[in-house]
Amino acid sequence: MKKLENKIALVTSSTRGIGLAIAERIGDNGAKVYLAVRRPEAGREIANKIIAKGGNADVVYFDAKKPETYKTMIREVIEKDKRLDILVNNYGGTDVKVDLDVVNGNEDEFFRIVKDNLQSVYLPSKEAIPYMIKNGGGSIINISTIGSVIPDLSRVAYVVSKAAINSLTQNIAIQYARDKIRCNAVLPGFIATDSAKDNMSEEFLNAFLKHVPLNRAGEAEDIANAVVFYASDDSSYITGNLLEVAGGFGIPTPLFGDSIRK
Ligand code: NAP
Repeated sequence: MKKLENKIALVTSSTRGIGLAIAERIGDNGAKVYLAVRRPEAGREIANKIIAKGGNADVVYFDAKKPETYKTMIREVIEKDKRLDILVNNYGGTDVKVDLDVVNGNEDEFFRIVKDNLQSVYLPSKEAIPYMIKNGGGSIINISTIGSVIPDLSRVAYVVSKAAINSLTQNIAIQYARDKIRCNAVLPGFIATDSAKDNMSEEFLNAFLKHVPLNRAGEAEDIANAVVFYASDDSSYITGNLLEVAGGFGIPTPLFGDSIRK
């Protein structure tokens, strides 16, 4: 029996990058996975590939710029399958041109980005939790960032919003633990997806990797593996956890990058 057999899952923003890897890995592990995406045709193609591999998948419409779709995407799943066991809140991001340090960043954009990211966990969780309670439990997994626990020189709106997501993760975990709902967050380090590569120069990436003890960029699959762990009964006694999947970034002495032999 596969780890997620008979489960119903939803992954936001799963056409590319980390979300795509999560949806595929959840499909491989036996759950029916709903791709919650703003481009339904692209979602349909991915769903068909998952089905062709022997999995089960479907598409629901979600656009983060239309916050009402956080609710409608959950309701669509409930209408079709009567339950939702696994909710993966993967959508998130920023605009590096305006999300700078406190003084130089745009004030209106700061609050817009914080709201955009924070509601990507708050709204779908608010909608899904009552259905999970009715069905005897569930697992919510939020995609945060290692930057949420290591202050940086820029992207203040992004990292503050993700720090808030960490706190929301732990509050949800505590508030609904007695309803058998677990809620955990995965904190990726640098993962070589389109948006991450577009936001960094080659020079910055090389300097950054000097400080990553495992000395490589992460793969989207590294995050997907952690998500499947939290989605499955392998983590049945774990809730409110913030798991860094970052190759050890931020753990060693700040001199690590200068003193390492190779
Ligand atoms: P990505 O490769 O750039 O993929 C972005 C995804 O978001 C695509 O599926 C895209 O859909 C979707 N999307 C963009 N705008 C949307 C909207 N308005 N409504 C719905 N979907 C939208 O991103 P990623 O790097 O995988 O990031 C995924 C998550 O991981 C984010 O929460 C991010 O903060 C977090 N994270 C990433 C890294 C990293 O190094 N990559 C590190 C830490 C945390 P389309 O295909 O339709 O454009």
